[in-house]
Amino acid sequence: MIKDGFGRVHDYLRISLTDACNFRCTYCMPDEEMQFKASAHLMQVDEIDAMAGMFVRMGVRKIRLTGGEPLVRKEAAEIIRLLSKYPVELTLTTNGYRAHEFIQVFKEAGIRSVNVSLDTLQAEKFFAITRRAHFQQVWDNIQLLVREGFHVKVNVVMMKGMNEEEIIDFVEWTKTQPVHIRFIEFMPFSGNHWENEKVVSYQQILDTIAAHYDFIKLRDDANATAKKFKVYNHEGTFAIISTMSAPFCTTCNRMRLTADGKMKNCLFSKGEVDLLSAFRSGEDIMPMIEQCVIEKEEALGGQFTNDYEKIDADELTNRSMIRIGG
Ligand code: SAM
Ligand code: SF4
Repeated sequence: MIKDGFGRVHDYLRISLTDACNFRCTYCMPDEEMQFKASAHLMQVDEIDAMAGMFVRMGVRKIRLTGGEPLVRKEAAEIIRLLSKYPVELTLTTNGYRAHEFIQVFKEAGIRSVNVSLDTLQAEKFFAITRRAHFQQVWDNIQLLVREGFHVKVNVVMMKGMNEEEIIDFVEWTKTQPVHIRFIEFMPFSGNHWENEKVVSYQQILDTIAAHYDFIKLRDDANATAKKFKVYNHEGTFAIISTMSAPFCTTCNRMRLTADGKMKNCLFSKGEVDLLSAFRSGEDIMPMIEQCVIEKEEALGGQFTNDYEKIDADELTNRSMIRIGG
């Protein structure tokens, strides 16, 4: 069992398969032309398998594949199949563009739940956010995943001036379809032009929805990041991920491996531990994993507090989101 200095058991690993992406979301990818890591610097397929296996032996019960866009990695299907042998809940977060090519792979790997990112229901705005004219493809793939019986969570990053007037449209979607909308407060990362005025907070989102609907609070899973709700008689649900205004660090169980094999004990941690180099030189990485988690800060990587209006984004030390793996 992997425990940190505050007694939190860590049994959830998020693995980034690549820092490359077929989209260019403004809040995730820095403006300057991204130099994606050459593949020799990335964890190779057998290395991902072996390192994931070590985490599983140490008590990991859930693995999420992410990126960059995990489904652009050319060995994505092979990696999914390999990891499916472990006794974990295997899942992934994707922009959805290539999901239709993977339906069978997901099923064979026992994946039941998929998070798809979609920040707007308007094709033109989708282009403005992602720099790609792929709204229809993502929409169709969400419909396909729902039809094929997957539990589909839709990640919506909320930003003032971008999509806050679509909150009701997203909740309305849950009326007729079993989709699970997750409004995410905009978070600061290197190069993403974060400003506190752009955050649409948990309370603002909830107030907007309360002005239109009667809804109930659902029970949240232990270690959940999302606070879940349901409008009466709707098929789906909605949730809010309030990282900035009401962080959920006290029950955190998450660890991350970047695509280049660095371990991060928190999305906002300044430090990283180079597991891949150690693994390649034959070192035992298990004590390194334990030590990395022991050093975890109590909240938000020790970099800020929920008083997010006072954050100076230039003073934070971190990679961009696309390089960490969301
Ligand atoms: N490419 C995949 C996707 O878009 O779902 C997986 C990687 S992406 C980095 C993972 C999640 O992080 C997505 O839901 C994305 O919307 C979210 N994300 C990226 N940058 C963010 C930010 N600055 N604040 C909040 N969420 C962010
Ligand atoms: Fe790519 Fe996902 Fe980042 Fe958008 S949010 S640029 S789809 S990694």
